[in-house]
Amino acid sequence: MEAGDLAVPEKADIAIAGGGLSGALIAYRLRLTRPEVTVALVEQGPSLGGNHTWSFHASDVSAATYKWLSNLVRHKWPRQAVIFPKFHRVLETSYCSITSSRLHDIVAPLVDEGLALNADIAEVAPDRIRLRDGAVIKANAVIDARGARTSDRLVLGFQKFVGQELEFVAPHGLDAPVIMDASVPQEDGYRFLYVLPFTERIALVEDTRYADGAALDREALRRGISDYCAVRGWKISKVIREEDGVLPIALAGDIDAFLDEGVEGVAPAGMRAALFHPLTGYSLPDAAGLAERIADQDDLSGPALARFAVRHAASVWRNRSFYRLLSRMLFSAAAPDQRYKVLQRFYGLPRSLIERFYAGQTHFGDQARILAGKPPVPVSRALGCLGEEKYLNRALAARATTQAQGG
Ligand SMILES: Cc1cc2nc3c(=O)[nH]c(=O)nc-3n(C[C@H](O)[C@H](O)[C@H](O)COP(=O)(O)OP(=O)(O)OC[C@H]3O[C@@H](n4cnc5c(N)ncnc54)[C@H](O)[C@@H]3O)c2cc1C
Repeated sequence: MEAGDLAVPEKADIAIAGGGLSGALIAYRLRLTRPEVTVALVEQGPSLGGNHTWSFHASDVSAATYKWLSNLVRHKWPRQAVIFPKFHRVLETSYCSITSSRLHDIVAPLVDEGLALNADIAEVAPDRIRLRDGAVIKANAVIDARGARTSDRLVLGFQKFVGQELEFVAPHGLDAPVIMDASVPQEDGYRFLYVLPFTERIALVEDTRYADGAALDREALRRGISDYCAVRGWKISKVIREEDGVLPIALAGDIDAFLDEGVEGVAPAGMRAALFHPLTGYSLPDAAGLAERIADQDDLSGPALARFAVRHAASVWRNRSFYRLLSRMLFSAAAPDQRYKVLQRFYGLPRSLIERFYAGQTHFGDQARILAGKPPVPVSRALGCLGEEKYLNRALAARATTQAQGG
């Protein structure tokens, strides 16, 4: 299916604004389980999903969720490794990647004539999506899945990265992903390399920084990748593809005020609903979970769907206050070049706890275990991170002062 050969649908039961990860997964799940529901999926780009490799731990989702996602999975490994200055650990937890091209190839034909590509949305409303060229798609319900939006109501740190899919002259020798190699020089916050070995000689190599500011220095990150490959003895023969990202890390926020900024009567989804893991910025498990829940709703009318989506996003956010506390400790209590110690300590914990952590299912015992013992950050600074509301108010006041001073 080529971009540009599709007419814009005039109406649908559900119109989804944004054919990225969340919008495409919702459309996919609806087509699989509610074929009677007509879906319009409206994306400004020439294909669904943009230019991404989305990865997740198999343990992030239930077996039932994995079953319907598995068709989208392009790569799967039975284990993964982490490397820190103090140790190297292999975790027998499967790791999976979905590529945007695979997402497009599977979902686009299913949505069929409901798909509008190269369609720039000017406005979403409870009963329609209006494109910049004036075309209107009418719908009983509208979902806003147009990706992250900025808001004063969230206090964020950033996970910034550039990833290059590289072909090497000789085999790289990896048989499993290295999801964090933090044995590298620490720069611009917590820095690690991430490597997904796709074939014997092809791997995605990302240089990642957990930094305070959102500015992305692509050249520095590209240099970081080539230096890392040189140290590992991997001679690059070709850069096949490049992707980059600046993902939000949630430190604190007022979720109700954030969601109130959305369009009333329109259901928010994906990053637009702040549905991401507070400490990694990853959103795939949440996007799959929301897609399932939406498709399970008896009442798919606009008002019901919008109410459900807002309530769901608020409840997921509230349940994750512990992760935001850890994000604050990472960003506010640890000096930038010492941030790796927080992760190094965490990766010494039992595998089952680590799996629950990434799945967002940490229980009270896990929390006690994560916080127990001598903290890898100064105690006085850790204490300053404890109350989210206080932290939020302090951050908002500091922001207001900076703005008043013209900063
Ligand atoms: C390079 C990269 C790699 C990532 N890797 C992972 C990972 O490995 N695992 C993980 O869980 N998370 C990952 N993330 C984080 C997160 O999962 C992604 O950002 C994810 O794509 C968010 O999904 P979304 O649907 O909310 O937003 P997006 O995927 O950004 O989708 C929003 C869509 O809306 C479209 N859109 C926006 N405005 C308009 C408009 N006006 N008109 C029409 N269309 C519009 C955009 O073109 C886009 O396609 C990654 C992010 C990036 C940037």
